[in-house]
Amino acid sequence: MLKLIINSILVTTLWLSTASAAEAFPTEEPMEGKPFGQSVKQVSDGVYVFRWWVYRNIFIVTDDGVIVTDPMNAKASKLLRDEIKKITDKPVKYVVYSHNHHDHISGGKIFKEEGATFIAHENVRKELGDHPHPLTPLPDVTFSRNYTVKLGGRSLELSYFGPNHGDSLVVMRLPKEKILFVVDIVTPRRVAFRTMPDFWPDEWIRSLKEIEQLDYDYVISAHGPHTEPAIDPASIVTEQREYLEDLMAAVKKEMDAGTHSPDKLRKIIKLPKYENWRSYDQWLAMNVERIWAFYHMGW
Ligand SMILES: [Zn+2]
Repeated sequence: MLKLIINSILVTTLWLSTASAAEAFPTEEPMEGKPFGQSVKQVSDGVYVFRWWVYRNIFIVTDDGVIVTDPMNAKASKLLRDEIKKITDKPVKYVVYSHNHHDHISGGKIFKEEGATFIAHENVRKELGDHPHPLTPLPDVTFSRNYTVKLGGRSLELSYFGPNHGDSLVVMRLPKEKILFVVDIVTPRRVAFRTMPDFWPDEWIRSLKEIEQLDYDYVISAHGPHTEPAIDPASIVTEQREYLEDLMAAVKKEMDAGTHSPDKLRKIIKLPKYENWRSYDQWLAMNVERIWAFYHMGW
């Protein structure tokens, strides 16, 4: 049923966006000698998903200007600005950073030059201060727990759940549309990223449990190739949590039974329930090693 609703939203909105500029753009994955593909999909009234390679953000077009999230990098942010200009001549008023990692939030300088105000969790300012990037403006507005961006009658709610992936990540919710935009801590139908860099496994699970209590029907996640849907049902947050719980339980069980070599754990632990998820063959062993480190070292 949810799938049907989502499909009908996508079909309706793509049709509404006047044959959609999105269809005119390349969507191929990066290959030798080929550019990274990008695409734009409208998922609700004034709400768009911009994809560059396997990265995604959302932007919201209102009567008074545009709210942009995660500019990604210098190249992607230029493409994003061009895409926005095809939809509206209103200026970008706000840029919201999801967290401190450079691969998601670099390249916002072009929006700063056009007068945008940058918003992020207070820990992003500290992290960017310690690890500056020339194309990444520091946030102008910061907050500790919750903040609502308001523009042209639209609202975007930002919520911080403590450490999980770094210690500055905020989840973004469109209350009217009941859409959640989640970066890095929810990636549907894919095992966790490699050795889970800057992920705190136990805090990640705790945060997902708290996020599951929010009011939303749909989730946009920040990673996925062009073959993946731009928007998913709310259940993907639970599926992500269950994967992490199953992964941790499997590693703990083997360690409790006396296997303490990470090399051995990498070889023997399988999670057949998830063998159809993306990157299972390449990354499961790396996920296992990260969880071994958690139990072995206590972080
Ligand atoms: Zn990250």
